[in-house]
Amino acid sequence: MEWTEARVDQLKRLWEEGLSASQIASRLGDVTRNAVIGKAHRLGLSSRPSPIKRVNHPITATQERMCQWPIGNPRDPSFRFCGKTAAPDRPYCEEHCAMAYRRKSDNAA
Ligand SMILES: [Zn+2]
Repeated sequence: MEWTEARVDQLKRLWEEGLSASQIASRLGDVTRNAVIGKAHRLGLSSRPSPIKRVNHPITATQERMCQWPIGNPRDPSFRFCGKTAAPDRPYCEEHCAMAYRRKSDNAA
């Protein structure tokens, strides 16, 4: 399959109409969805909003004063952060600050 000028024009038009890459691929024929996406990218066509919504990270800017002590295994779906109010100028609550300090002195010993 070659990207002739006519096919590129058609790709641009369909892309701007908001068709999905797979719909464009079937209109053009003899081309894969991935080829359409790749060509659109190379043409610098503006990317369209993805249907996949970003998942908010548990620690956001508004929650940055929360204790960020990890609880559980990060690979485990139940993994979370402590979430208590952090001590001033510390990333952790007082309880976890104490644990962090104890760990450091354990390492030093
Ligand atoms: Zn904590």
